Amino acid sequence: MLWRHGLRFLPWLMSDPIDPQPPAPSERPRPRINLWLESRYRKLRRGLPQTVFFCPLCKGDRRRARDCKQCEGFGKLTKESVQELIGRRLLPAMQAKLGRFHGAGREDIDVLMLGRGRPFVFEVVGARNPEIDLEAMRLEIEARAGGAIELAPFVRVARPRVAYWKETHFDKVYRAEVSLDAVPSDEAMTRARTFEGAVVQRTPQRVAHRRADLDRERQLRVLGLVVMPDGALELRVLCQHGTYVKEWISGDDGRTLPSLTSLLGVPCRCRVLDVEEIMTDEVSGPRLVVKDSQDKDTQGGDRVES
Ligand SMILES: [Zn+2]
Repeated sequence: MLWRHGLRFLPWLMSDPIDPQPPAPSERPRPRINLWLESRYRKLRRGLPQTVFFCPLCKGDRRRARDCKQCEGFGKLTKESVQELIGRRLLPAMQAKLGRFHGAGREDIDVLMLGRGRPFVFEVVGARNPEIDLEAMRLEIEARAGGAIELAPFVRVARPRVAYWKETHFDKVYRAEVSLDAVPSDEAMTRARTFEGAVVQRTPQRVAHRRADLDRERQLRVLGLVVMPDGALELRVLCQHGTYVKEWISGDDGRTLPSLTSLLGVPCRCRVLDVEEIMTDEVSGPRLVVKDSQDKDTQGGDRVES
């Protein structure tokens, strides 16, 4: 018996192609495991949320969605998200139960994510078939997304990477197109173009229903401000994490000060916004001096962390 078994498994153990027959598959189902895949996404289509955009009225609950007026039974407000474009391919291939998307922050639904992309960890829960070709999977996801997203190669990581990306804050460079109600003076343009310093933002009106109403101080540096052919402005700005850029541009009815509106003396409105880069450790480029709460004591210590 022993001899026979030994012969049967020998070629397999040696990875020898003499016998192409693999050992008889076990009748028992393979165990389920959890795994974490790290990557970065570039979002190249506006209107795509990062994660599943559940209907705020029925919360995606199947029974409540049936008669829901807002989503008409769909349960969510967009057909897809970055999370779903990935999970739709990855989860069936891995025979997994579900996927969780952990992004290093998120951009608004109408904002593109450019540069090297936003880091994230995709958690695969209960995978029976985890050993797939991750590079082939990445290319399949990109191809089926039809240009909406691009992904950096997946890397299998340990669970603490989720906390790292959730808890570490980075400066960001934004590119915006700004509509103006009037032409600002040259002096005002110079003042705005060279602005660098602290901005105080009261919680914006558009998020006040879900965020505590308080003042936050953020550092910000204008990197570029030029007039576009149609008279709008193209703005490039480096912001501390947690800065509300659209409100910095508009001033949010005086709730953000100073703002581009207050510096130019002309009402401004953000018509297009892109994240040009997230300044993670791997990315070279400009940085703001203030770094996270560890620096609090040397900075006067009265800043409110979000
Ligand atoms: Zn609904």
